[in-house]
Amino acid sequence: MKLNRKLNMGMVGGGPGAFIGEVHRRASRMDGQIQLVSGAFDINPRKSKQQGKELMLPSRRVYRNYQEMIEKEFKLPDGERIDFVVITTPNNWHFPIAKDFLEAGFHVMCEKPMTFNVAEAKQLKKLVQKSRKVFGLMHNYTGYPMVKLAKDLVRGGEVGKIRKVVVQYPQGWLATPIEKTGQQQAAWRTDPKQSGGAGCMGDIGTHAENLSEYITGLKIKEICADLSIFVKGRRLDDDGNCLLRFNNGARGILHASQISIGEENNLAIWIYGEEKSLEWHQEHPNYLYVKAPDGPEQVWKRGNDYVGAASPAAGRATRLPSGHPEAFFEAFANNYVNFADTVRAKMTRTKPDPLALDFPNVDDGLRGMLFIETVLASTKSKKKWTAFKK
Ligand code: NAD
Repeated sequence: MKLNRKLNMGMVGGGPGAFIGEVHRRASRMDGQIQLVSGAFDINPRKSKQQGKELMLPSRRVYRNYQEMIEKEFKLPDGERIDFVVITTPNNWHFPIAKDFLEAGFHVMCEKPMTFNVAEAKQLKKLVQKSRKVFGLMHNYTGYPMVKLAKDLVRGGEVGKIRKVVVQYPQGWLATPIEKTGQQQAAWRTDPKQSGGAGCMGDIGTHAENLSEYITGLKIKEICADLSIFVKGRRLDDDGNCLLRFNNGARGILHASQISIGEENNLAIWIYGEEKSLEWHQEHPNYLYVKAPDGPEQVWKRGNDYVGAASPAAGRATRLPSGHPEAFFEAFANNYVNFADTVRAKMTRTKPDPLALDFPNVDDGLRGMLFIETVLASTKSKKKWTAFKK
């Protein structure tokens, strides 16, 4: 059975002035597989309606809140109602919304960090298993072709046994207390009731953690963490430095910061193996650097046939020829394409292309929440080295 129509997407969050909801709207439609048909876009019902108008959605498909959305969408005929929801609210809402949509029988795409705490993440994993629905998590940095190439080079033995991983995510936008000026994105991120137990480490440290485990295929086993709050009056960490031990014996350094003045989104990773090293920068994402001890550094460039030949996943995640840069939107879209193909396969009871299963899921979300709690426990502990929570 074939499904000869676009998948219907509903959105929760992404109201007027919101950041990531609009990125999802653009990325999800990039490949013509998905259309936005409904939403509960804002915590304020009036603003939800306003957003729906701006998006030119029929007013009956724009809801005052997500509970009304579930109730009304559920009653619509198959093909008209949403097939899945994307959750782009602050962190404290991810779990209740994901739970209710899964229980009503909808597939879910969710923003990171997956939940508010580990207890919710464990419960969500069980719910996903029970519901047999598809659950995607938007760790968008694993959607870049050159990240997929790095992963496949590691799997193919190119770098040899990994000895050391250095991963960083410094930003500078919270170097002053802009949350006190009413800046929307800063306000909830620095509020423990909306953000969770961690600030910077939850917001962007989890991206670094996810990227390191995705490329290396290793698992972080122990962490020695030192979180700081530099801005006076702030209640959550705005900077953090961690030493890591991986399950193969490799060592690592992970640092994340939102007070590093001048830094924008300087996510980068260095992987040092017994044979070669890899280096990738999010701000220059079309290049992967490969270094050997006995020759000049190689620069692999996205869009060339040799990339797809070495990594079918990277080839599949590429739209434009080399030299025409692809970046943030395309990486989101790559997660959407794989998610959508997997949802389609589920809906038509067929087997998905194995490459389509390459998108972050509930297990990655649980790892992220365990990472946050391990970092928090290590920061508090005098012993420092703390086993990765289970
Ligand atoms: P934001 O403050 O810009 O937007 C949040 C939106 O959610 C607002 O419109 C708000 O009114 C709405 N909202 C809040 N509670 C709601 C509810 N119960 N029902 C409906 N709408 C509700 O926040 P943001 O920066 O877009 O971040 C949102 C989420 O996306 C966070 O979890 C964040 O961690 C994540 N995020 C991920 C990335 C990434 O690169 N993957 C980047 C930025 C943000």
